[in-house]
Amino acid sequence: MRTVLKFGGTSVASAEALERVTRIVGGVKGDRVVVVSATAGTTDRLHEAAAAAAGGDGEEAQRIVDELAASHETLLRTVAPTQADETSADLAELAARTAALLRSVAILRECTARTRDAVLAYGELASAPIVAATLRRSGVDARPAAATAFVVTDEAFGSAAPLFAETYAAAREWLQPLVKAGTVPVVTGFIGATSDGVTTTLGRGASDYTAAILAAALGAGECRIYTDVSGVMSADPRMVEGARPLGRLSYAEAAELSYFGAKVLHPRAVLPAIEAGIPVRILNTFEPEDAGTTITAQGVPDGSVVKATTSLGGLSLVTVQGAGMSGVPGFAAKVFDTTAAEGVSVLMISQASSENSICLVVPADTADRLKAALERMLAKDLAHHDVERVIVERPIAVVAAVGEGMRGTPGVAARIFGALGKAKVNVIAIAQGSSELNVSLCVAERDQAKAVRAIHEEFERERA
Ligand code: ASP
Ligand code: MG
Repeated sequence: MRTVLKFGGTSVASAEALERVTRIVGGVKGDRVVVVSATAGTTDRLHEAAAAAAGGDGEEAQRIVDELAASHETLLRTVAPTQADETSADLAELAARTAALLRSVAILRECTARTRDAVLAYGELASAPIVAATLRRSGVDARPAAATAFVVTDEAFGSAAPLFAETYAAAREWLQPLVKAGTVPVVTGFIGATSDGVTTTLGRGASDYTAAILAAALGAGECRIYTDVSGVMSADPRMVEGARPLGRLSYAEAAELSYFGAKVLHPRAVLPAIEAGIPVRILNTFEPEDAGTTITAQGVPDGSVVKATTSLGGLSLVTVQGAGMSGVPGFAAKVFDTTAAEGVSVLMISQASSENSICLVVPADTADRLKAALERMLAKDLAHHDVERVIVERPIAVVAAVGEGMRGTPGVAARIFGALGKAKVNVIAIAQGSSELNVSLCVAERDQAKAVRAIHEEFERERA
């Protein structure tokens, strides 16, 4: 079998972590392709360097590059002292190139998205050779592979989209011969290049995306995402004591969970693997024996109803209210045209069938702007009292109960609201998609944790 193993920033940031990476990669049989992130914090620092340079502070930018270069060099010397020299020269050249780029940014006082991508690429271009050197030291024939050679993207610098046909063909051409010869390529996540060879990045956190793309391109049997938690949890462990890792999730469940606050992975990033029928496993570099979470296209029914409860705070509820909206077509369109024009993302929508109000849940810091825009848009309706008012409530949290087992199971909503009632949590608004995979409700932010605990407890009891 062929396995793609992706290691995130904390998994490659220290000698101890790299020791674990070595053991994990060494323990996998068959062909292996490794994908790595930049060491933890590096991409953020490079962003800061680019911003400093764009503001004219070339010295600060240089300091940041020096600091990153020193920490990479130290890491390399610690993990692979006997073979550091060659890699060390490559790293020094990379740092020098990045510093030169930043000097020109500082002179121009302008950092285009294209230049920023070239600066950010330094992080992954530096971590891959370090990981490869570490693996070689343990006897694995590993070599770094810059994804700029085979992840072909469009020119949307900062969040470039891969051109799949080109990428799959180039990745196969590039990586198959290495893999067949028993070499483990250590590929830079996050970065790619246009067909003209200009470096791009695929968006923050996108190393997972690189891994999924390569898994699909190379027909891997499994795509493993190694991070520093043991998979997706049934609830946020900071809120719920009995939260536990979920063994299996369908892709749709993972998508719902991440949308409402679970941060382990961006499901869209693993879609290429899922679509190719390749299971994606979330595993913990620091607890490699933990089972982690396996995500597959279709869920495996396990008798659970609500599988996980998640929540997101820092939100506002904007309500457009008025008896005159009832039965009049076009109100919802006006409301959503306004949110779109204001660039406000809407997390949840609810409208009662009386049509006397439309409720939108939006990020709290956009609510006042949205309210003002809605009042402008609906000025005539307000004047005629068809719309009575636009109200903002905050701070609000959305709590979502997610699970494929809810579909077609009667009584789920009753249990959810019963549990909330018992916990004395007031529910402000409710929404359920027709996929029946998710019941979301809006509560005051001060009730957020209480609501998550109440729902989690209600559905965990049946496991006991
Ligand atoms: N290094 C990149 C970032 O921090 C990509 C990644 O970590 O996946 O966004
Ligand atoms: Mg990361």
